[in-house]
Amino acid sequence: MNAAGPNAANIAAMAGIDLPVEPRKRTNFLFDCATPPPLDIPLMINPDGVWTRPEGKHFLTGCSPEPDGPADPNDFDPNHAEFEEIIWPALAARSKNFEAIKVLRFWAGHYAYNTLDQNAVTGAHPEISNFIFANGFSGHGLQQAPAMGRGIAELICHGKYQSLDLTPLGFERILSQTPFKEKCVI
Ligand SMILES: Cc1cc2nc3c(=O)[nH]c(=O)nc-3n(C[C@H](O)[C@H](O)[C@H](O)COP(=O)(O)OP(=O)(O)OC[C@H]3O[C@@H](n4cnc5c(N)ncnc54)[C@H](O)[C@@H]3O)c2cc1C
Repeated sequence: MNAAGPNAANIAAMAGIDLPVEPRKRTNFLFDCATPPPLDIPLMINPDGVWTRPEGKHFLTGCSPEPDGPADPNDFDPNHAEFEEIIWPALAARSKNFEAIKVLRFWAGHYAYNTLDQNAVTGAHPEISNFIFANGFSGHGLQQAPAMGRGIAELICHGKYQSLDLTPLGFERILSQTPFKEKCVI
């Protein structure tokens, strides 16, 4: 079973398998807003990829850096410049309420980024049938975790998916280079 997150390609390589999943660093910032928007805002995503949402009485934010690319999976240093140069200007342009904001906390992690189609790779390898993958969630794995966990459990216990057919996310599309594109990745 390969459930190694951003380290997935290294685990696949142990079996001689090329898995197009790479670590991509993302920094998240928690900020205080001097005059918050009067209404509760939902998750807001700018066309440039800058996003923000309320987090208690504060706000959480991040962006997709440009250029983006493979990162050292052991590098957890937050990229402070992203807030100053990308996020703050974008938020301030979106709303005057976001002009006076102050970073309170920040941290960095890594997306397990599927470079073929930004989507998960699940199920058994077509040629090594006892090697099961749950990889490449590309920044949206938490929300898919319940379905993935159930699907993989069904595959192991019953030899096939029962409640939800996850075969479109299988390894076959990697071999045939047929993307099953996820377009809404932030
Ligand atoms: C900043 C950030 C924000 C995110 N926001 C969201 C969000 O809002 N919504 C959402 O749905 N998803 C979000 N995600 C993505 C989500 O966190 C991941 O998709 C999810 O955690 C992936 O789960 P996983 O179990 O596949 O991998 P991981 O949680 O990375 O777990 C992999 C595990 O494998 C272990 N491991 C690695 N190599 C080995 C080895 N050789 N031997 C043994 N163990 C090993 C690691 O230590 C780790 O515990 C975000 C990710 C980041 C970085």
